[in-house]
Formats: sequence, C-alpha cells, structure tokens
Amino acid sequence: MDRFFNLVPPAFYQADYTREAKLRISRCPFSDDHLASLRRLSNLDISLKSGKGDETMLWCLQHECLVHQSLIAEFERQGLTGFRVRPATIRFPDGRVSKDYKELVVVGCGGTATPESGVRLVEGCPGCQFVRYTNVTYWPALVDLKQWTGEDFFKVWPLPNFILVTKHVVSLLRSLRVKCYSARRLDELRGEWDFGIGVGPLSDVMPSDVARKYGRSLGLDRHVHSKIEAQGRKGQKRGKT
Ligand SMILES: [Zn+2]
Repeated sequence: MDRFFNLVPPAFYQADYTREAKLRISRCPFSDDHLASLRRLSNLDISLKSGKGDETMLWCLQHECLVHQSLIAEFERQGLTGFRVRPATIRFPDGRVSKDYKELVVVGCGGTATPESGVRLVEGCPGCQFVRYTNVTYWPALVDLKQWTGEDFFKVWPLPNFILVTKHVVSLLRSLRVKCYSARRLDELRGEWDFGIGVGPLSDVMPSDVARKYGRSLGLDRHVHSKIEAQGRKGQKRGKT
C-alpha cells in the first residue's frame, strides 16, 4: 500500500510566522456554527520568525505548502502533474524579502472518498454549501482509483487540506534530498479528523475553474442543492397542513 502518500510538514515542524491575507468571508444565513464561505483572495505574504531560508519547502498552518522555484523547476523537468503555482512573498528574520518561493496549488482530483473509507454525507446546511461528513475510519481505502485523474498531486473530497501525492513525487523528493516534508503512507494514518469533517464550497480551496470543473463532475453542488430542495418541499408541505 505505497502507491499514494499524504504530503505534510515534517514531525515537530514549527510554523512560526505572521501573514498578511485578504479574505472573503460569507456568513451563513441559517447558522452561526460555520461560515458559508472563507476564501483567501491574496497571495501568501509570510514573515518568518525563525529559519535561514535554506529549505526548499516551507509550510503554513493550514498545510499550505511553499516550494522554492528551483524545486518547482525540477517538478516540471520530471513531468509531475496536478499542481499549479501561485506567487508568494517570504520575509526572513534577517530582513531579506524573497519572491523565490511559490505556493503549491494542488489541482489534481481523486474524486470523493470511497464509502469503504468510512466517509459518508451526514447533512448539508439548508442555507449555504457547508456540508458535514463522517470521519475517515479506514485510510487505505480513501482513494477510488476509478475517480482519480492519474495526476501526481491531488486531493480527495471532503479533505480539502489533505495533499495526496504519488510515489513518483516521493521518489523525486528523496532523490533530491529535500528535507522539510514528511510523506505518510495511507495505512500509517490513524485517528485523524475524529471530530468529523465539515467543509464549505470547493471554490474556497481550489482555483475557480478547477472548482467549477470538479464541483460539477463530482456532483457536490447537486447533492447539497437536492438536500435544500427536499427541505424546501418539507417546509411547503408543513405550510399547507
Ligand atoms: Zn450554512
């Protein structure tokens, strides 16, 4: 079971930084326990409180991954797929400002998690696109090979911050002796997301064109909207009696 890996910061990685970000926040008209949407509009602008700038990968708290352009160039040379890059600014403690790191934006798609993984839709909010799912209980079954687009970097819904990569990526990182990352096999994962999974719209976490493409093909909008329609019909019936 070493076909897919979860790419994360290394163990004990301390992301010590401040960041500037322009956010677009929409509140849910039905509930205060979640937001309808939270999307970062601006590029990452990070002030590191420690570090010398000799790493080729850096991480933020939401598992945003910043990659030095020399490593991006190697990804491209090796034909890795499923990613785009977004400009970023890194401010090092010695005052140096670098534009040499790019945010790695994962755009490959592994579809939705399989039922065997334990992930099931619990409920969709009637007022927005927020949806709750049950936890992953069996990680090795997470990826449905029939839904996976075959790209090297990809995500599986509903785990928008969970970067999945192929063995090809891990082999390259190992051969280049990249240090600041950890690649976990899916069968090594235990007890994550014990609190359940709650997610907003796909467009919060993926570029708009990718969110439109996969939102439609995965039927994510559809099952939320059918839930809303069903609840609307119930409401109408109650209104008549
Ligand atoms: Zn809502």
